[in-house]
Amino acid sequence: MTPGIKPLVAGNWKMNGTKASLEVLEAIVQGYNSEMQRRISMLVCVPSTLLSLAANQTVGSQLRIGAQDCHQNKSGAHTGDVSAGMILDAGASSVIVGHSERRTDHGETNEIVKQKAEAALSAGLEVIVCIGETKVEREAGKTLEILGAQLEGSLPQGISASKTVVAYEPVWAIGTGLIPSIDDVVEAHAFIRDFLVENYGPTGDTVRILYGGSVKPENAVELMSVAHVDGALVGGASLKSEDFLGICAAYDNLA
Ligand code: PEP
Repeated sequence: MTPGIKPLVAGNWKMNGTKASLEVLEAIVQGYNSEMQRRISMLVCVPSTLLSLAANQTVGSQLRIGAQDCHQNKSGAHTGDVSAGMILDAGASSVIVGHSERRTDHGETNEIVKQKAEAALSAGLEVIVCIGETKVEREAGKTLEILGAQLEGSLPQGISASKTVVAYEPVWAIGTGLIPSIDDVVEAHAFIRDFLVENYGPTGDTVRILYGGSVKPENAVELMSVAHVDGALVGGASLKSEDFLGICAAYDNLA
């Protein structure tokens, strides 16, 4: 954790969830008690089809709703895409950009990710920019080089602590049950913090840096104890309210 930064636990439902899954959100809202709300922020990024429903369902609670991607343009001939403005209009507060699954499945480059991040910020959304090395890159000793290039290429110009979040997600740790050694997490997060401070001055010291990749209630405390790990981006474990709340509770005890 970084002193002075309120941790954020963000769920990413990916391409999972139907109207029936709103029950999971309801259970999360019930478990997110006022003590927890004071100490940690909570967000669930649902599929586009559920954005409005989820936002309506959580009105009046502190649980925020986010999307998993946005187009870089405000509107136009982009079949199947949604703009940042549409996400805001649906009642969401946040959007993930540059998730490794988008980078791989849709060939999204750092430049596109940066444009999406800029579009999100211009619309007034909080943006979570994902970066992370593949297994091949890690084994070739290129992790920090890759992270540096992704930070350089994907982060928008005008970041702010309240609206910009960086998520470090080693690609090989996503959905695999594998996590890096704690020393590797320490190294990556310190590197990201140094980059942010060098490039954005004092603001860089206050931007949240999340860890993502197979976070579970069992490993949450260990990961959260690392310097500059200011929360988690949680995929699989965010689909079950007990697991998601278990991670949040672990963080809450440390915060
Ligand atoms: C993710 O989707 O960003 C993620 C980290 O997934 P998981 O927690 O399932 O590894």
